Amino acid sequence: MSQKRKEKPDICRDIIVVGAGAAGLMAAIHGARCGADVLILEHMERPGKKLLMTGNGRCNFTNEALFSPNILDDPQGRASFGNFYHGASPAFVLPALRFFSPRDTLRFFEELGVNAIIRKGGYYPFGGGAAGMLSVLTMECERLGIEIHCNTGIRKIRKAENKFIFETKSGTYISKKCILATGGKSYKKTGSDGSGFLYVERFGHHIQDLVPALVPLQSKLAFFGKVAGIRAEISTKVYIDHEEKACESGELQLTDYGVSGICIFQVSHLAANGLKRGRDVRLELDFLPGFEENEAFTLLMDRSKRVFSRQKTMAQSMIGLFPEKLGSAFLDEAGIDRTLPCVTLTTGQARRLLGKIKHFSVPVTDTRSFEQAQVTAGGVDTDEVCGETMESKLVQGLYVAGEMLDVDGICGGFNLQWAWSSGAAAGQCAAKSLRSVTGRKT
Ligand SMILES: Cc1cc2nc3c(=O)[nH]c(=O)nc-3n(C[C@H](O)[C@H](O)[C@H](O)COP(=O)(O)OP(=O)(O)OC[C@H]3O[C@@H](n4cnc5c(N)ncnc54)[C@H](O)[C@@H]3O)c2cc1C
Repeated sequence: MSQKRKEKPDICRDIIVVGAGAAGLMAAIHGARCGADVLILEHMERPGKKLLMTGNGRCNFTNEALFSPNILDDPQGRASFGNFYHGASPAFVLPALRFFSPRDTLRFFEELGVNAIIRKGGYYPFGGGAAGMLSVLTMECERLGIEIHCNTGIRKIRKAENKFIFETKSGTYISKKCILATGGKSYKKTGSDGSGFLYVERFGHHIQDLVPALVPLQSKLAFFGKVAGIRAEISTKVYIDHEEKACESGELQLTDYGVSGICIFQVSHLAANGLKRGRDVRLELDFLPGFEENEAFTLLMDRSKRVFSRQKTMAQSMIGLFPEKLGSAFLDEAGIDRTLPCVTLTTGQARRLLGKIKHFSVPVTDTRSFEQAQVTAGGVDTDEVCGETMESKLVQGLYVAGEMLDVDGICGGFNLQWAWSSGAAAGQCAAKSLRSVTGRKT
């Protein structure tokens, strides 16, 4: 007699969160603290893999620039938001950041045992780094009874009779509310492989073009082959179709493919979007940002005529101002023979050299790939999501949080703050909208 295979029973919860990253963990904790029965589905073998990489393992988890009352409350603060967050509507982030503010973030983590220190405006855990941040989040999940089902790949999510049905290899899950927090497309090995966008698309949502952001930029200039490995303090302007769009300063890392470093990351979304639209994208690098044009000219002429310089070649006279390889590369770019005595430097040559040092033009041909991008620009269209609750305007009971949305922040803790705020808003609002909320756990 053939025996009928025993079916695995469906697992039912009030809220199922998809993705155990920063936003998903935050959403689950806030949902459970409001009394909901919450479970997280994660397709990797463990939660929070990207969180572990943040800030080189030190986790820059928020930024003091967001603490200014002007930023969150003042109408003028609205305008300055574009400096920190990008997307089709940067101000979309405001309600969630008010709902769960950077101050709430500090308090939340302090209660969980994380004391913060501040470095150059960014907040970091005092000790324990990103690993400590992840541990306190998972311990809080455990305390609240939130199960995290890892290695759970989802085949399909659908909605039927006001329930969300998740078909996975290990069985069927059912929930009243669904929070999607599957991240963007960068650093695929951490789990954010873009698969979550397929779920929202099937629910009818539009995805704004996905492009790598906070990413190095490529150029075909031979110059980069000569100077790879050098770091320099610079300022850079970004031009799209010859129009200046932004200016940043900081440490530049020269690589054989082009440029990297935080100041490049900060403007990379402009370059990525410009390239995507087929525009001319150029950087102008200033390698002597502390000097006005005339001061820099006088500096170059003075150095070449000094008593101690008399025996020096053009290349040798640049040492001390720039690393040797970089100085020589500037001379090559300016068409000056680096072996000539530096005392022969003419004013015309000095002007040409200055043009390369202070206005080095870099035609950008591409960004590096998503594999080297800290975040994904683009994502779920924010016009289709309620900024107060993170609930979809198209599908009742569906919530979206974190990097999945068309929101990307600059370097400095802004992206994690968005994950915390949008996650907290989604979790609390999903839990509060449940008709029968029982037993509040705090
Ligand atoms: C190298 C690096 C350094 C960074 N440093 C900082 C920093 O210092 N400060 C800062 O603010 N930001 C930093 N960021 C950005 C920040 O890490 C992200 O913006 C943030 O982690 C986004 O959180 P999230 O929860 O939305 O997405 P993620 O953290 O990417 O989490 C998404 C989760 O969903 C899971 N998932 C994806 N698809 C599925 C699926 N189909 N089914 C089930 N689970 C799925 C993933 O495995 C993952 O666990 C850094 C990023 C990188 C790559």
